[in-house]
Amino acid sequence: ITAEELTKQTIDNIKAVDSDINAFINLDEDAAIEKAQAIDKAGIDPDNVLSGIPVAIKDNILTNGLTTTAASKMLENFKPIFDATVTKKLNDKQTITVGKTNMDEFAMGGSTENSAFKTTKNAWDFTKVPGGSSGGSAAAVAAGEILFSLGSDTGGSIRQPAAFNGIVGMKPTYGRVSRWGLIAFGSSFDQIGPLTRSVLDNAYVLNAIAGHDKHDLTSSDKEVPDYTANIKDGVKGMKIALPKEYLAEGIDQDVKDAILKAAETYKKLGATVEEVSLPHTKYGVAAYYILSSSEASSNLQRFDGIRYGYRSETAKNLEEVYVQSRSEGFGDEVKRRIMLGTFSLSAGAFDAYFKKAAKVRTLMIQDFQKVFKDYDLILGPVAPTTAYGIGEEVSDPVTMYLNDAMTIPVNLAGLPSMSIPAGFSNGLPVGMQLIGRPFDEATIYKAGYAFE
Ligand code: GLN
Repeated sequence: ITAEELTKQTIDNIKAVDSDINAFINLDEDAAIEKAQAIDKAGIDPDNVLSGIPVAIKDNILTNGLTTTAASKMLENFKPIFDATVTKKLNDKQTITVGKTNMDEFAMGGSTENSAFKTTKNAWDFTKVPGGSSGGSAAAVAAGEILFSLGSDTGGSIRQPAAFNGIVGMKPTYGRVSRWGLIAFGSSFDQIGPLTRSVLDNAYVLNAIAGHDKHDLTSSDKEVPDYTANIKDGVKGMKIALPKEYLAEGIDQDVKDAILKAAETYKKLGATVEEVSLPHTKYGVAAYYILSSSEASSNLQRFDGIRYGYRSETAKNLEEVYVQSRSEGFGDEVKRRIMLGTFSLSAGAFDAYFKKAAKVRTLMIQDFQKVFKDYDLILGPVAPTTAYGIGEEVSDPVTMYLNDAMTIPVNLAGLPSMSIPAGFSNGLPVGMQLIGRPFDEATIYKAGYAFE
């Protein structure tokens, strides 16, 4: 098969399937086919597994010349004039970007229902949410629309939609992948990562996008190993920790059972699995929503009706340009975060909220450091439930926030974590996550591969 044939088939299939799934905001048909033709002409590189492979990219990652909206009215017509580093790296690997995927507006949410444009459906049940915020990226892969996609994860947005759709999603260590060209949400949390059908595919994609970038000073200059090299080594002798807080009340019995079964599988494969405690887990949600919203309120100041995107048509003076453009351009959830963030950073609230949350973050980092002295990996659920119904939770933000209790700690601590399928409950996929030491994605991939 040529790259052109594969790309055309992919696009035809997306056109046939996506009216049910709604995973895509934009397709880039002509450019994709042109690029595929160019790759065929140059010849597929047999040593490059990604050569000629179509990809879908979350719509908060910049793609030169291709509209990038962050699923916000604010950026509805925004055409970037450069590529994000990950986009460029994939282009250099001869992948073919066929389109941009739906998400919660500015990546704020866990169901993709906060998109200003459309409601993406779960690939297994069209009445259920696909998770979020990278819901489009996950549903597109699960529905067979695309071979792999990129998402971003600030508090679970790669892992939770991967779990809800029964696929593999990796949130790399903070600093492993450049954030240059990712529309910023919480800059000390955000990471880009791959969503794929298999663990091996995932490792191939991380190989391609990881590494230091002079445009992102928080990107690490640690060498990037070949994540596929030792992936088949197995888990014999590995020490896996099972935090009791991740199997506590409020988590569905089926989800717990799937995790305990996975623990048994790992024991059979030669690993040891033991219960541990991450005592500050219960403060994670509160700390995360204060800190990430504070960062968001600062990052989103740039959307002022002047420099980028939407400008109110009825504004009559400068003040109205700012206020009306932001009032009309941002959706409710984004406004909620901006208000929470600016409040937490205000002089009167800073000590009681922002500073307190920052201290909690340190305690949670220390919880993980203690466990990783003795263990190679932490195993746990991704979310307390499987995918819930569209419309069921979106009107209740606090319930939505509480669902993130087991993904958020990983971002607070900057750790790598991968969600992989761990079974089904009532016909819907259950996901488990494997959390690793900083920059030890390789061990996660090994254990994920052994389980798959
Ligand atoms: N659900 C979380 C939030 O709304 C995580 C989002 C994300 O990781 N981008 O903030």
